[in-house]
Amino acid sequence: TTGRPWYAVGKLIDIQMEREIKTQLEAKAQRDSLTGVYNSATSHQLIRQVLAEEDRNGTGAMLIMDIDYFKQINDTYGHATGDQVLKIFAEFLKEQFRTTDIIGRVGGDEFMILMKNVRLDYSIHLHLQKLYTNLQNIDIPELNGRKLSCSIGCAVAPTDAESFSQLYRLADHALYTAKQNGRGRFVIYHDIKNQQETVLS
Ligand code: GH3
Ligand code: MG
Repeated sequence: TTGRPWYAVGKLIDIQMEREIKTQLEAKAQRDSLTGVYNSATSHQLIRQVLAEEDRNGTGAMLIMDIDYFKQINDTYGHATGDQVLKIFAEFLKEQFRTTDIIGRVGGDEFMILMKNVRLDYSIHLHLQKLYTNLQNIDIPELNGRKLSCSIGCAVAPTDAESFSQLYRLADHALYTAKQNGRGRFVIYHDIKNQQETVLS
């Protein structure tokens, strides 16, 4: 029975391959198929997990970003170009945040990010200012020189809120305010909190 050892090795390789395929499939199921960032369900789930960790270091900043006038981009340049813009925007986001931060596509042109271990509030301002500067440097040939614009709403845990749902609500409200104020800007919830306390309570 000289064939036996080879049979065993073959079996082992089968098991390893099966495992690898399973891991690959699981990873794929977590991703948004167009952009490769986390899909909505997975990003929500991962952010919930981080927020629930008791030994969480420092603060976490939740950002909700929405591309400005995206419908116009689709209408003017076509849906395929719109898709291309979404891919480029997602790549841009991967460059702008740490690999440990959570980046997801949560809607058509809407992305959610959890920045982990953010220590000082002002660093969020600086970070986002830099992001807007870098956004100006993206050139999308299909858009004939037109620049991308996005609006961002941000809320900070645990200062503004601790739970996922409350943080989401506040970040979304901040995003809404950024859109109302003319788009192409970020709003951090605690910066507007005092003026708007009555609106949200
Ligand atoms: P606003 O400035 O207020 O954000 O308006 P907007 O034009 O960006 O529109 P809004 O954010 O309300 O809606 C996003 C649009 O994105 C709606 C839909 O037509 C388009 N969209 C959603 N998913 C996709 C997609 O996968 N590919 C493309 N090309 N377009 C999409
Ligand atoms: Mg939009």
